[in-house]
Amino acid sequence: MSMETIPMVRLPAGEPIPVMGLGTWYLGEDPARRASELAALRLGIDSGLTLIDTAEMYGDGAAEVLVGEAIAGRRDEVFLVSKVLPSHASYEGTIEACRRSVGRLGTERLDLYLLHWRGRVPLEETVRAFQELVRLGMIRHWGVSNFDIRDMAELLSVPGGEAVQTNQVLYNLTRRGIEYDLLRTMQAHGIPVMAYSPIEQGRLLRHPTINAVANRHDATPAQVALAWLMTRRGLTMIPRAGTREHVLENRAAVDLRLTEEDLRMLDDAFPPPRGPQPLEML
Ligand code: NAP
Repeated sequence: MSMETIPMVRLPAGEPIPVMGLGTWYLGEDPARRASELAALRLGIDSGLTLIDTAEMYGDGAAEVLVGEAIAGRRDEVFLVSKVLPSHASYEGTIEACRRSVGRLGTERLDLYLLHWRGRVPLEETVRAFQELVRLGMIRHWGVSNFDIRDMAELLSVPGGEAVQTNQVLYNLTRRGIEYDLLRTMQAHGIPVMAYSPIEQGRLLRHPTINAVANRHDATPAQVALAWLMTRRGLTMIPRAGTREHVLENRAAVDLRLTEEDLRMLDDAFPPPRGPQPLEML
């Protein structure tokens, strides 16, 4: 394991995972950026960001291949997450998709396998496939992504559904809808939210209030966006960084403490939801 320590959040199964990991959407697609991305992933693992999020969808497997290269020889240092597309989420389709993913990743098992978003396959069927994958030793845990509060309630009512370990959803300062109900419900069930696009794919970096808060701490806007998520309970986040500089900056955000005054400024600029909102997706 990495020498660096980072706060952990517990999965319902009892296993701790770091509060910050590494996203991989769009990584591994551009040969000109490949060396930088590989170095970024490896530095991330060295720095304690040992949760790696990928998916069969990303670059049609290219992100999984890159991750496979980054973790070669150090598989046991990371908590590896991948996702099955809804169009593959039938019983047989899920098992086959998982076989392809572990092959691209150069490993024998995933630590966590997520249904990427809800499709037409009945949830019971995908859950049965996840259970079989656990039995086969190809995955250790399973979860979902982009599930709204009704989807989660339905999942928890299907046979075996209570074994869900996370719901990976869009959550950042500009996307606070889940605070009205989903986040609280998941906290009550002890199921961590995995926040994706935590810096809104770079779009929130120029916001004047985020920059003002960053200046108060001699920090960067990305660090403020991540430190704000750190103030939420039962949550892990997976920023994607394609350079070593961004990885180090993001890792340092774990130790940035925002003040009450900072949080008030951010609430004024990005008000929390006053009523239920449809779950947003990217
Ligand atoms: P993100 O992490 O919010 O933003 C990534 C962008 O921010 C990249 O352009 C990156 O640039 C830049 N960046 C990273 N660190 C920075 C820093 N310190 N300073 C300035 N810019 C910085 O967006 P995301 O990739 O959409 O979300 C993160 C991960 O969540 C994805 O990679 C994926 O693993 C997951 N995700 C899941 C779903 C889902 O449906 N389940 C959907 C979207 C995302 P560089 O490349 O130059 O570092």
